[in-house]
Amino acid sequence: MHHTLQLVLTPEEAAHPEVIRRKASEALALSPDEITALRIVRKSIDARSQRIKVNLSVEIYWKEAAPQLSFPDFSYPFVGDKPPVLVIGAGPAGLFASLKLIELGFKPILLERGKRVRARKVDIAQINRNKGMQAESNYCFGEGGAGTFSDGKLYTRSKKKGNVQNILNIFHYHGANENILYEAHPHIGSDKLPAVVTAMVKTITDSGGEVFFEKKLTDILWDDAKNITGCKTSDGESFEAKALILASGHSAQDVYQLLHDKAVRLEAKGFAMGVRVEHPQELIDRIQYHSARSEYLPAASYNLVQQVEGRGVYSFCMCPGGHIVPAGSVPEEIVVNGMSASHRNSPYANSGIVVEIRPEDIPAEFSSYGVLAGLKFQQHFEQLAYRNNGGQGLKAPAQALEDFVKGRVSTTLPPCSYLPGIISSPLHFWIPEFISGRLREAFKLFDRKMKGYLTNDAVILGVESRSSSALRIPRNPETGQHPDVGGLFPCGEGSGYSGGITSSAIDGEYAATAAAAFLNNLEKERK
Ligand SMILES: Cc1cc2nc3c(=O)[nH]c(=O)nc-3n(C[C@H](O)[C@H](O)[C@H](O)COP(=O)(O)OP(=O)(O)OC[C@H]3O[C@@H](n4cnc5c(N)ncnc54)[C@H](O)[C@@H]3O)c2cc1C
Repeated sequence: MHHTLQLVLTPEEAAHPEVIRRKASEALALSPDEITALRIVRKSIDARSQRIKVNLSVEIYWKEAAPQLSFPDFSYPFVGDKPPVLVIGAGPAGLFASLKLIELGFKPILLERGKRVRARKVDIAQINRNKGMQAESNYCFGEGGAGTFSDGKLYTRSKKKGNVQNILNIFHYHGANENILYEAHPHIGSDKLPAVVTAMVKTITDSGGEVFFEKKLTDILWDDAKNITGCKTSDGESFEAKALILASGHSAQDVYQLLHDKAVRLEAKGFAMGVRVEHPQELIDRIQYHSARSEYLPAASYNLVQQVEGRGVYSFCMCPGGHIVPAGSVPEEIVVNGMSASHRNSPYANSGIVVEIRPEDIPAEFSSYGVLAGLKFQQHFEQLAYRNNGGQGLKAPAQALEDFVKGRVSTTLPPCSYLPGIISSPLHFWIPEFISGRLREAFKLFDRKMKGYLTNDAVILGVESRSSSALRIPRNPETGQHPDVGGLFPCGEGSGYSGGITSSAIDGEYAATAAAAFLNNLEKERK
């Protein structure tokens, strides 16, 4: 027999499997020995009151042999001799698109401008030492895309778009920890992600797909009827295929420019920009857990949102126990973001705090760029941060939080996890007022929700500018294709249809399914 039981335990109880077994047996009036197997299927923490609770959903088996509690297995067929599909970008969207193509009997040819993880780590170490931004190998570009050196949060709200559990299963199959399958807010961690994405690339090549690194797409080719015929890369090589999945992410500004220059329709969309804030983790723990964190609780996180003067201001990509990282891709621009290792054990808690920006908010001086105005404003914001760091490379301009809110220059800054270093700068002065004014108000309101949040023990760094894409590459909702180019399937964060690792992975699968249907139709018509 088996049953799924809901248990509410203290954090200490939930940390001990023998206690979970005992509690389960009490609830079902069994002796602990009668239970043949037990598996946690859902775990969440409720810290709303002083008495913190852990909610567990547990599958219990008794009076029957322990079932094989196996995990979903994936067998990928050999597709080396199947019709090719070009996939641009080895981020979550491109990797999951490639795996889905294999499942559907097509051969992915995956082109990635950046390097393999191992070489990428060396470049990232140099970036962290403030030795200059590497344009083609950084936190955004390379094997695994922007998701590789991240917190690896897999939580997504866009459940309606696809099968989130299947995405988690595929991550787990490629080496992510089992707990991502049941945690309410699963995350993989930057120490584990490189091996996971490398395993995914191995699955693709073992199945007969081809993966090329340091291969930058520079042109998309089509015939007179505007149907895809292939693409060109920066080394002059050409690749042929009738379908191209464009999963180049939202940091590939040159890809947007290429599409624009080739008169491929783009649409301006809303996005968000602001700063990254970092507090001592211990302070966030005390606020969220109402006292110091016990050894049985994870580093606390938060999720804040506020309307200020008609625009949302919200926390984005919060990284408990993490680090702030230089996440740009262009020399002479500064972009910050956050990551954390699987144990989330640094003494810092960081989060993006960003202001919603609508196309009509973009200052008039950018209007001459037309549809690219938002993108150009994003670049301008990143260049402002670079110009306001005293000419010190990738050092980030920074201000103590309360000083920012009160419009004071910071004479001292608290310690910070950002490895290239920080330098005091009046962010209140140079961040455009329609952003900084809303940030100031939001920080005051956040302090009402989390008493102690607004403090000079926290520091803000400029700038958090790549939380989402300023452009959409439109697609036909029926076919997934670009309305102007047959066989072009924009997907992932760069297409403006997803945001974050899991939703981009889902979107990659969607594009692969659409590309497969398109090629199957072509084949039917040919016959
Ligand atoms: C530091 C950091 C931390 C993050 N933390 C999280 C998190 O915890 N959880 C979360 O959900 N999201 C997080 N994100 C965001 C997440 O990484 C992205 O949403 C996700 O990676 C988008 O997936 P994608 O495949 O659409 O694009 P990307 O991951 O950006 O991948 C695009 C790929 O295309 C390649 N490419 C671009 N142009 C070309 C070209 N011309 N030719 C060939 N290849 C090209 C790029 O090199 C890149 O590898 C984080 C991002 C960063 C930078």
